[in-house]
Amino acid sequence: MYLKRKLTESLTTFKGLRFAHKFTANSSKRYRATVGIGGNVGDVKRRFEHLLVEIRRDSRVELLQTSLILKNPPFGFLDQDDFFNSIIVLQVDMQPRVFLDYLMRLEKKFARSRSFANAPRTLDLDIIFFDNRVIKTDRLTIPHADWSNRQSVVIPLAGIR
Ligand code: ADP
Ligand code: MG
Repeated sequence: MYLKRKLTESLTTFKGLRFAHKFTANSSKRYRATVGIGGNVGDVKRRFEHLLVEIRRDSRVELLQTSLILKNPPFGFLDQDDFFNSIIVLQVDMQPRVFLDYLMRLEKKFARSRSFANAPRTLDLDIIFFDNRVIKTDRLTIPHADWSNRQSVVIPLAGIR
């Protein structure tokens, strides 16, 4: 069950029991990771719920909070369904590169296959922030390269405290 609200002609938000929710305020883990989650194939909201279950039963990470879910139009490659996006905030003991590997394994678990840039996807997990780190390597750019230009990040992020 979600509380659905139409923001504009093309943007809709969804709040649920586990989205736009604070799970816990404190954690013994070292780093705070802000992760963008997205997808536009199949029942994405249901997949997000499953992702939370998967994350919450993993002792290496702690789920602090989630944002609302935003339904928004695709960019880049336009001939595909709207995306659902949300932000989840985790506390982790992993270093950023190890955390990226962890996220990519999760993507795989949810049957992500890479085809071309901006292609439809079941689940995309992007590190938006990692504490206050600035990283620029071939594999990893933190903060995420385009975060401040994306409605899919900025609107969900606005509700995160
Ligand atoms: P996108 O998310 O841009 O649509 P992908 O999910 O296919 O594309 O990611 C492509 C690559 O982006 C990954 O293999 C990863 O190494 C790299 N990458 C760089 N910075 C980040 C980041 N902050 N979060 C996630 N992936 C990143
Ligand atoms: Mg990605």
